[in-house]
Amino acid sequence: MPQTKPDILSILRGEHVRFLRLQFTDILGLNKNVEVPASQFEKALDGEIMFDGSSIEGFTRIEESDMLLKPDYDTFVVFPDELEDPRRGRVARLICDVAKPDGTPFEGDPRGILKRQIERLQKLGFDNLYAGPEPEFFLFTRTPEGLPTTETHDAAGYFDLAPIDKGEEARRDMVNVLVAMGFEIEASHHEVAPGQHEIDFKYTDALKAADNITTFKFVVKRVALTHGLHATFMPKPIAGISGSGMHMHLSLFKKGENAFFDPKGQHQLSKTALHFIGGLLEHADGMVAITNPLVNSYKRLTPGYEAPTNIAWSASNRSAMIRVPARRGVGTRAELRMPDPSCNPYLALAVMIGAGLDGIEGRIEPPPPIQRNIYQMSVRDRRKHRVRELPGTLREALEALQKDRVVRNALGEHAYEHFLRAKRIEWDSYRIAVHQWELDQYLAEY
Ligand code: ADP
Ligand code: MG
Ligand code: MG
Ligand code: MG
Ligand code: MG
Repeated sequence: MPQTKPDILSILRGEHVRFLRLQFTDILGLNKNVEVPASQFEKALDGEIMFDGSSIEGFTRIEESDMLLKPDYDTFVVFPDELEDPRRGRVARLICDVAKPDGTPFEGDPRGILKRQIERLQKLGFDNLYAGPEPEFFLFTRTPEGLPTTETHDAAGYFDLAPIDKGEEARRDMVNVLVAMGFEIEASHHEVAPGQHEIDFKYTDALKAADNITTFKFVVKRVALTHGLHATFMPKPIAGISGSGMHMHLSLFKKGENAFFDPKGQHQLSKTALHFIGGLLEHADGMVAITNPLVNSYKRLTPGYEAPTNIAWSASNRSAMIRVPARRGVGTRAELRMPDPSCNPYLALAVMIGAGLDGIEGRIEPPPPIQRNIYQMSVRDRRKHRVRELPGTLREALEALQKDRVVRNALGEHAYEHFLRAKRIEWDSYRIAVHQWELDQYLAEY
């Protein structure tokens, strides 16, 4: 990876790059970019490219409309030719931090918000939070006009070795492009539902993991398009079959060693791990609006599809919100299972760190792990085991967010207020819509 401006300039020249894309995300996690031609490369690398922030969701404050893009040189990559047709000129990208005209970081920039949380944990002596995401998505066909459908091509199930179909072909190309862009792919497979896929990449530090997730979503959508397919990270596109999650494997490292592992600890977990898990459980309701931000997210969080509905942890059971996989040593980790891939990965990781650090600082002991299938526990049993329910709708999630100081502090006032405002509008527009379900139930009957 090039570290210096001269390195990057010489690659840009050597590879005949014609356009440089300066990327960042809005508060909803949508990829935004400003593309500059070769004449502007130096200026771009110096962080002097300005854009109008008032047109970006969550950045909207008139007095702050001019913003600067400060590139992170470590994120430099030339797009492989499968991604951008080289006949129109080669394209490279840099992921950027957003700054105000005076050069100071913009408080509402999701990447900056995550960086602030990482700094907090580094002040406590940790190297970093390591995160391994497992994003799932659907591949659907498009109409002849190019509009997305919810139809799939395949009839294959989990891990099936079906004869190669369009979806498999597309997924293989996605993996090739991701590898060419420096991803270390650990696994790629068909998921439970028809048309559903998962690609897992190797865990890395929180900032890079969030950058990777944004890049991943962009690549998956783009490659699907070249196959005439539509890739969607919508959490529950079809009722009655599995939705798409994005489990997040998390561990803290200190002085190069996994700080979650303690061979003598309870479950061979350190106090740090237990308290971190305690914090995640404590703030799960407050966090869920960020990790599961759509009206539709809560249609995935229903019993029976390996998506959690209760706030509990387990050493093995996949119905729990946090699972601690059996691996110990360097692979010791907690798997947070409620997030879905529609979240803004920067904000999601920021609130995970905020919640986990609150657990460490407040020495929050998690309740005992639940080893049974939680879907099958009675209400009384759940109460006895201190198992709370996750918010069941976006509205409940927003109410929980409002009450959670720790999560709000992790986001910062600017992002919190803008997020809440945007999501209230989304909820209201859903609430007043008349859905097909209501017509099916009531139109004839009443
Ligand atoms: P599952 O059994 O839930 O399908 P996988 O084995 O597919 O889990 O996913 C494992 C994920 O965990 C990968 O992204 C991997 O890189 C990540 N991982 C492995 N070790 C660690 C660690 N110490 N910290 C964080 N993530 C890790
Ligand atoms: Mg997996
Ligand atoms: Mg697996
Ligand atoms: Mg999966
Ligand atoms: Mg998993």
